[in-house]
Amino acid sequence: MTKYELEILNIILNSCEHLSADEVYELLKKKYPGVVKATCYNNLNKLTDEGLIRRIVLDNNSCRYDRTMRHDHLVCIKCEKIKDVYLKDMTSSLKKELGVEVESYDLKINWLCPDCIGQYNLNNSLGRK
Ligand SMILES: [Zn+2]
Ligand SMILES: [Zn+2]
Repeated sequence: MTKYELEILNIILNSCEHLSADEVYELLKKKYPGVVKATCYNNLNKLTDEGLIRRIVLDNNSCRYDRTMRHDHLVCIKCEKIKDVYLKDMTSSLKKELGVEVESYDLKINWLCPDCIGQYNLNNSLGRK
């Protein structure tokens, strides 16, 4: 593993945020100021292919990177903030239901996060005045 690969892996394993490739690049640059964006992107792809990190693709096709430990996501439909949730593993019930081998699944639950609900209510009350 190259030093860049290792550092990118560390950045993602130590982050509870769901970082975009650009955010990973900004953090990588703090340690290796000379690194170019393409190197960062290539290593993100490599780590994803190797199964060391997980890529989440959002509805607008933007990608976030995450730890591979099993968990699911609440995605805010307004600000696209991602929150981790820990539901029981549904692999075996999916297998039973479908009658086929299930390798993995990617569950994204859409919601309005508390921040956006707050804003929504505020906008509504402003609109009424
Ligand atoms: Zn939100
Ligand atoms: Zn996550």
